[in-house]
Amino acid sequence: MRWVLGLAAMCLLSCGGEKPAAVVAPPPPSAQASTGVPSPAPAPPPAKREPVVVAIVVDQLSSWVAESRLPELPPGRGLTRLVREGTWVKHLVYPYAVTDTAPGHAMLHTGKPPAQSGMFANEIPDPASARRVSILRDPSTKLVTPEGVKDAAGASAARLRVDTVADRLRAARPDALVISVSLKDRGAIIPAGKKPTHALWFDTGLGSFVTSTAFEGSFPGWASPAGDARAIAAMRSQPWQPLDAAWLAKVSGVADDAPGEGDLDGLGTTFPHRARSGASFRALPASDQAIVRLALAGVLAEHDPKRPTLVLVSFSASDVIGHVFGPDSWEAWDHLRRLDGTIGDLVDGLAAHVGPVSVILSADHGNVPLPEATKSRAAHCACTTGERLGPSALGDELRAAVKQAIGPGDFVDGVADPYVYLSPAARKLPAPKRAAVDRAVRAALAKHKGVAKVYGDEELARSCPTAVAKGGEDMLALVCRSWPGPPAESGAGDYYVVPAPGSFFDAEITTGKGTSHGTPLSSDRTVPLLVRAAGVDSGAVVDEPIDAVAYSAIEASLLGLDPRSPKQILDEARIRIREQASERAAPAPAPR
Ligand SMILES: [Zn+2]
Repeated sequence: MRWVLGLAAMCLLSCGGEKPAAVVAPPPPSAQASTGVPSPAPAPPPAKREPVVVAIVVDQLSSWVAESRLPELPPGRGLTRLVREGTWVKHLVYPYAVTDTAPGHAMLHTGKPPAQSGMFANEIPDPASARRVSILRDPSTKLVTPEGVKDAAGASAARLRVDTVADRLRAARPDALVISVSLKDRGAIIPAGKKPTHALWFDTGLGSFVTSTAFEGSFPGWASPAGDARAIAAMRSQPWQPLDAAWLAKVSGVADDAPGEGDLDGLGTTFPHRARSGASFRALPASDQAIVRLALAGVLAEHDPKRPTLVLVSFSASDVIGHVFGPDSWEAWDHLRRLDGTIGDLVDGLAAHVGPVSVILSADHGNVPLPEATKSRAAHCACTTGERLGPSALGDELRAAVKQAIGPGDFVDGVADPYVYLSPAARKLPAPKRAAVDRAVRAALAKHKGVAKVYGDEELARSCPTAVAKGGEDMLALVCRSWPGPPAESGAGDYYVVPAPGSFFDAEITTGKGTSHGTPLSSDRTVPLLVRAAGVDSGAVVDEPIDAVAYSAIEASLLGLDPRSPKQILDEARIRIREQASERAAPAPAPR
């Protein structure tokens, strides 16, 4: 089992209490030598250049994928250029078990693990609809579409307990421009925080980009030409053809139609892929281009050199492709090569309009190779077998088990990974019946070889304070940093279910096929970090594991909100790692 990296990378950076850097006055004009001739009136000091930062998240890009594939890509203008011209941290490590999109974006942009951010999962059960809904769904808000405000629940950052770097920027500079764009609500809202200028995401049902009344009352005019249903339908009408099939066959080492690949809404498992729905559009590289078009349109419309600009971009086609086809597929390789160019379009497009741009890029989580990809599994997750745990089927199983134990009633709200949710009625049962429910739930879960461990909320409440204080990366500590508190206070479930190595909760995008993430495996917890900015070493590689808190610290630094330079932040993290390692290696002092 490789739950744990060789070196603990916990809590290496102090991010609390940073203050915005004082505004640095431009240097005085150099004193002129006296010539006796009256000098002309001094030129006005050059205007201070406000920072322009683009903070990118590639959804489901693990360290092993980046490490093995970036060197294989032809030199381009995006990821490969960040490697050439910036610093590449090969192993940015998440210090918690729940490696999903909402927790990951929150960790990157707030520096806090789910236990503190409140972003403990992607979804929660909605007993009213008997479905799972986004953790960000907020019925007190409405969806805002290019056609107007719709009578449907919107989404907000109300559940996010801590400030994002964007929130801190807006507090320090209320005039700052913050534009956030993603295919997913969580990819747009969590980076942006509570007060972005704009946060836009894709609604699969409507087939267009949307926002929420939490952020603005009408859809931005500049966003419609690139983000309305007509624009997306035009992009969706183009089939996805591979750039170079011979190259894909060579570098991937698998067939286009490899075992375990899923078929999302008729996309099929071989090229070319035609998207017939909003859901399958999300698997096309064209969806990344839609994100870039929107981000550029927003900056072109609203950038003002007199105010700081933060562009938050989360690319999610990689995640959908991983879920459907797996990370070793032709589709994943072709997508990564295209993403290189798409990121180039974003960075070059911004630079052409606003001048030099600082870039930071990472991923919200890694992945687990397809259960059928045995070679890749052996190499990258030290797991050879595994079970796809279906949350919907598991919920049905648990309902049946509880019914058998204590009789009919609504006692299980469902499974929204990694949690099993009991109903409020079950939580109020008298102790003997409550104990019977507990036994039934645990016995049903124990029948699955894909379940490694089940933690009840009372056990976590008892054990977590000590486990977190102790530090380290044992399973309990990883789960405790994922756990936001008892269900009644936090909205999390009653049982945290840890998948066995190689197993995972099925994302149910193509049920029974494809792969996922969300496990404590190092292949899920370890992602790349790339930074290209003034003062950052060019072409440098950091091999030591670095805690994921570094992303928010560097994002803040690039915006002038952290007095340390990105290089200092990384250097401090490396020094702390070495100190920790040598403390462990040091022999215990001799007894006196
Ligand atoms: Zn995912």
